[in-house]
Amino acid sequence: MDCLFCKIIHNQIPANISYRDSQLVAFDDINPQSPHHKLIVPIKHIVTLNALQPEDKELMGSLVLVASKLADELKIAEEGYRLVINCNSGAGQTVFHIHAHLLGGRQLGWPPG
Ligand code: 5GP
Ligand code: ZN
Repeated sequence: MDCLFCKIIHNQIPANISYRDSQLVAFDDINPQSPHHKLIVPIKHIVTLNALQPEDKELMGSLVLVASKLADELKIAEEGYRLVINCNSGAGQTVFHIHAHLLGGRQLGWPPG
């Protein structure tokens, strides 16, 4: 499949993978926007938030739980962090395989640009 994140998930392109289970993979963003910037990616190829189905509920719940576990491991849970899913180009989505950005390690402005 011609998808960058599918290739990373299936070890066809290298990445600094920090978490993997039967449903999800997490790895460092290649262009970090904060001292900690991980991408949490379902193994299932879902293009955008708009394509989510009712059967993806447990998967997306697991994604949020993995994010919170990683934030704890990175020791940013107390100071604060952000979990972002961009949907389509108007929100800045550039890789069309659903993923959440876990950002932390600096003061994050609001609203985002
Ligand atoms: P989006 O803009 O779709 O929300 O996020 C895509 C993210 O993927 C960007 O933050 C970008 O830096 C990251 N990215 C793009 N190509 C690669 C790559 O080859 N490896 C890794 N680890 N991250 C990538
Ligand atoms: Zn994919």
